[in-house]
Amino acid sequence: MPVTEAGEISLRRSANMRAVRRADTKPEMAVRRALHALGHRFRLQRQDLPGRPDIVLPRYGVAIFVHGCFSHRHEGCPKTTMPKTRKDFWSAKFEANITRDARALHALEERGWQTITVWECQTKHPQILSQRLISAIEGVRRRVKPPTHPPASLGSRNTSAPSGNSFPQVSR
Ligand SMILES: [Zn+2]
Repeated sequence: MPVTEAGEISLRRSANMRAVRRADTKPEMAVRRALHALGHRFRLQRQDLPGRPDIVLPRYGVAIFVHGCFSHRHEGCPKTTMPKTRKDFWSAKFEANITRDARALHALEERGWQTITVWECQTKHPQILSQRLISAIEGVRRRVKPPTHPPASLGSRNTSAPSGNSFPQVSR
């Protein structure tokens, strides 16, 4: 019976939203699988970068965010619903997420990173996801020549080219 109370549901949702940032979410796994299949080397959750991008392609200086549609407000997406209860709470939360996301993209771009946002709903079909990643990465590569080093001034000691040719590079 308490399960049906609005408070319970909201609590559970907000625990969910907290987890979204760190956990290896399904959508994120789908993106990693697709990148791997495309032969890209990548790294996960560079803590030293603004917004802690979920996935980084060091070779192209590309930072990828995999966002949940609900929490991060994918515009026009059916999953971007507004909960019926505690609207103020949710509005503030959503506003904060949107602001934080925008700030992270801006900060990354200022440091010479290109950014790609992949929405949860775009990860359902491997084929489509793959296509989207291919064109997004192509677009990014056409826009800029790849940085010889992804910004080295950020305190990471791991910015030199990865050795060996095994991929994906999943170390942090
Ligand atoms: Zn969506």
